[in-house]
Amino acid sequence: MPIRQLPDVLINQIAAGEVVERPASVVKELVENALDAGARRVDIDLEEGGVRLIRIRDDGGGIAPGELPLAVSRHATSKIGSLDDLESVATLGFRGEALPSIASVSRFALVSRRDDDPHGAALEVDGGRVGDVAPRSHPRGTTVEVRDLFYNVPARRKFLRAERTELGHIEEWLRALALVRPDVELRVSHNGKPTRRYKGEDTLFSDARLAETLGRDFAQAALRIEHAAAGLHLTGWIALPTYSRASADQQYLYVNGRSIRDRSVAHAVRQAYADVLFHGRQPAYVLFLALDPARVDVNVHPAKHEVRFREARLIHEFVYRALHEALAGTRAGQNGQPGL
Ligand code: ADP
Ligand code: MG
Repeated sequence: MPIRQLPDVLINQIAAGEVVERPASVVKELVENALDAGARRVDIDLEEGGVRLIRIRDDGGGIAPGELPLAVSRHATSKIGSLDDLESVATLGFRGEALPSIASVSRFALVSRRDDDPHGAALEVDGGRVGDVAPRSHPRGTTVEVRDLFYNVPARRKFLRAERTELGHIEEWLRALALVRPDVELRVSHNGKPTRRYKGEDTLFSDARLAETLGRDFAQAALRIEHAAAGLHLTGWIALPTYSRASADQQYLYVNGRSIRDRSVAHAVRQAYADVLFHGRQPAYVLFLALDPARVDVNVHPAKHEVRFREARLIHEFVYRALHEALAGTRAGQNGQPGL
């Protein structure tokens, strides 16, 4: 075959393979867009585990009618303009990939209105084919509708699991979000029935929110962590060894507000627990690490599940120390001796 340039729709569908694994990835990308737009409340309506329908409505800043086609174009973003911006990026998104990718593998609609616009506007995209912008009434904010995910990519559709399983992935991701953004109201419905509501709260990182998301048992066994050194700041909760888990299902790590997985940090945590947990048991934790954005590269993974620390060893040591000290304190306390 001769070399040829792929058409845009196909490029987007290929990119979708990296960004859109399942309905939960769509919910993640769309809710992150809502948060980046300053939403105070996000409604998440789902049908059939999100496969049939995902509708995300927010009360954020909205999109100008003339910019709707750009919003669904590849590499178009309002969040960065230069490599320098990327160094200090404070938004969850920045790659300008999510909407075109999602719109290329679904029946997609975007409706939005900004505060000062006389009315809203809508744009539909069917399997990557972009329609025309049309006026549509809408309150301030944005609604994105994603129907029939992967209807045009049978190979992908085959990998979707049962409705319950897909819904479970969505709920798990929302739980992780509710922990780090208790200030935003999240309302979820599934097949027309309200299933979950996280109220917007004033207090960040309250024990009540921990109990609501991960259960009373965790909250009761939780030690609050607060540790700072070398420009690194760690807060959150770790569970006492008495509340250990059979699997790593309650391990939440956030870096500058972004939920991520990191082997090195996970290892530091395991090491801190090494003396106090039975072999094979897993610790439970919710850790928020904050540091200068210039010290961490967030552009490592298309779905942004991972970051790269410029000083991985320093961070490993810092996390280990913070947790080791907290856990040592409780052991001493249990023996009736003063903490270390
Ligand atoms: P990214 O988030 O990386 O910029 P996306 O493809 O997710 O890329 O979105 C493209 C652009 O569309 C965003 O940069 C933003 O300007 C706009 N946009 C998307 N969703 C929303 C929303 N819910 N509210 C306001 N603007 C949005
Ligand atoms: Mg985005």
